[in-house]
Amino acid sequence: MYQLIDGKKISQEIKEELKEKVAIRKEEGKEICLAVIQVGSDPASSVYVGNKKKACAYIGIESLSYELPEETTQQELLKLIDKLNTDKKVNGILVQLPLPKQIDEQKVIQAIAPEKDVDGFHEKNVGALCVGSKGYVSCTPLGIIQLLKRSGVEISGKNCVVIGRSNIVGKPMALLLLRENGTVTVCHSRTQNMQEITRQADILVVAVGKPKMIDASYVKEGAVVIDVGIHRDENNKLCGDVDFEDVAPHTSAITPVPGGVGPMTIAMLMYNCVSSVE
Ligand code: NAP
Repeated sequence: MYQLIDGKKISQEIKEELKEKVAIRKEEGKEICLAVIQVGSDPASSVYVGNKKKACAYIGIESLSYELPEETTQQELLKLIDKLNTDKKVNGILVQLPLPKQIDEQKVIQAIAPEKDVDGFHEKNVGALCVGSKGYVSCTPLGIIQLLKRSGVEISGKNCVVIGRSNIVGKPMALLLLRENGTVTVCHSRTQNMQEITRQADILVVAVGKPKMIDASYVKEGAVVIDVGIHRDENNKLCGDVDFEDVAPHTSAITPVPGGVGPMTIAMLMYNCVSSVE
């Protein structure tokens, strides 16, 4: 029987720990403030932003909300970021992605002061992760490490395979697993004979962005499988990149969708915000 890795429960544990830390910081006179910027009114982005603000309120972080119209220019957005960069009250700045097409996302991300980049997307923070120095780490992969550790999964010395090499999930995931002394392989769209590689994995992290692509033929018996994907299936039900029904019986532990990786991303955003005053 496999272990279901419960992201809802683990993320709640983390939020409770952070709530206590924030209360202590407040007693020391340190308030934490996150600026959340949304450009346009994409419904999915509005849900994510709403959940982030709710999490802030829950753990005692102040959130400042900037809701800009769809037609906002890059210059206007950069001006706001500039203002928030120098605002002493603001500890973290989050720009909800994706941005409308007239705005260059990379320009915006790189404009955020690295010490306020709680998403961990700035080149300086990515570089810090690469060389093993202090900096913010992208929330989803950071959350996956917590899921593994708090579920008693040993990473050190294990064969870890990551499917996907995006800047926000695959690449930082590989670096974090390496930092935890895993032996790491990264697969992507040009990888040949992918199943031969993934079947070597003790820990398989799937961030391929294709609904239910990974079936049991990709998985070694007894592996730990982490599913990062979020999609709607043909019945409008949430599903991941992994075909859960087919894969789960062959694993020792697996994350469900929903209730696996998803809740961890916001918990780790809160973790990064709290770290900003430490
Ligand atoms: P992405 O930027 O689209 O990256 C997908 C990666 O998968 C790319 O590196 C791509 O390779 C690789 N790939 C695509 N098709 C492949 C194939 N047939 N075989 C092997 N590799 C293939 O996606 P992402 O931003 O990393 O997100 C991945 C998934 O996680 C999505 O479903 C997304 O919605 C979800 N997500 C969830 C959370 C959360 O909080 N739970 C957070 C972020 C993302 P190339 O580089 O060669 O193109």
